[in-house]
Amino acid sequence: MTAPRGVVVLGATGSIGRSTLNVMARHPDRFRVVALTAGRRAAELDRLASRWNPDYVVLADSGGRGPARDWPGEWRYGTEAMRMAAADPESPTVVNALVGFAGLESTLASLEAGKRLALANKESLVVGGDLVLEAARTGGGEIVPVDSEHSAIMQCLCQRPTSEVNRVILTASGGPFRDLSRAEFGSIRPEDALAHPTWSMGQKITVDSATLANKALEVIEAHLLFGFDFDQIEVVVHPASIVHSMVEFRDGSTMAQLGHPTMEVPILYALSGPERLENQFRAFDPVESGPLEFERLRHEDFPMFDLGVAAGRVGGTAPAVYNAANEVAVAAFLENRIGFTGIPTVVEHALSAIPPSPIGSLEDLVQVDAEARVCAAERVGTPSPARGDRFP
Ligand code: NDP
Ligand code: MG
Repeated sequence: MTAPRGVVVLGATGSIGRSTLNVMARHPDRFRVVALTAGRRAAELDRLASRWNPDYVVLADSGGRGPARDWPGEWRYGTEAMRMAAADPESPTVVNALVGFAGLESTLASLEAGKRLALANKESLVVGGDLVLEAARTGGGEIVPVDSEHSAIMQCLCQRPTSEVNRVILTASGGPFRDLSRAEFGSIRPEDALAHPTWSMGQKITVDSATLANKALEVIEAHLLFGFDFDQIEVVVHPASIVHSMVEFRDGSTMAQLGHPTMEVPILYALSGPERLENQFRAFDPVESGPLEFERLRHEDFPMFDLGVAAGRVGGTAPAVYNAANEVAVAAFLENRIGFTGIPTVVEHALSAIPPSPIGSLEDLVQVDAEARVCAAERVGTPSPARGDRFP
């Protein structure tokens, strides 16, 4: 019997991080936790470390060095320690479950070190674009999507070349405001946006699902992961979130991947695929699930979708500007500093103020990310930009 594969879980305290640990717990003979990381929540990381006993843990916020912890193992701190965890030689697999631009350096470090990167942190791929793909090519790393739609596409493709594909159809739940008239958008509160009808997720992606920014990020993600043209990628609203996406081949056959909405299935496949391991899951009953309904996307009412796809088509630094401004706007919305309809206003402002340019290096991206945050923060009316993404 072979030894269990080492896995580093970046963002272990989050929604995807915890689900990853649950999935791994069912296969102790296959997976071993090498390292766990968190941003600021030291007590939660301490609790996870006591439960999973990794080789070490990393807290990205070096200001979090504090009182003694219960877990007696090794604690490391700061962004350099995060980067080293992403490239740890003990671990052939890295799960990037960080949120936002903060995940970019870890994505690059793991791909440069030749890892199998189970990627939940779609923002890092969207922002990094060709730089991330180049890191995979030169370092020998492989990106395996955790996002349910992209996991579905990968499974539907069955390793056939993309030249055999006419188009892919990404499904979107439509979020909590799918049926709300635009006239009522003005009264949306943060708690309304955080009440997602089908998925339980971290706050940022939950708001992105409500504005449909998440679906725009996913269109760009599909373009980069599989090489489809933007014109080949369609989005359809499917409120039940049972069909996770579809691939239409040139011979007229359309493949779909189905299942009840749980991230544990795509996470397990990202760790084990193409092998399929035993899993605990709720069986899908086609009769009980009732009719599978699909609707057109309301483009005019959810402008974050078209803004994001347009930024993806432009390429270069445009997706980074879109992402940074969105992160600032979502944080402002959650703090009640702008309304729900203010989010696209802030993002549109940043996109028109900062002209796109090609991406030469990580430093270019760090600079444009900072610039877009300043621009968005000014539009929000905050004196200084939100710097929540990078710890000293
Ligand atoms: P959460 O907010 O639940 O978790 C984020 C994790 O990242 C936490 O461990 C957090 O640590 C850590 N973190 C946050 N900021 C930093 C930072 N600056 N430096 C280092 N670590 C940091 O997010 P989710 O799990 O919901 O989402 C993670 C990613 O997966 C996102 O990119 C999201 O789009 C994607 N995704 C999520 C899905 C879901 O079902 N949740 C589905 C598909 C994709 P701490 O706890 O200390 O703050
Ligand atoms: Mg998704």
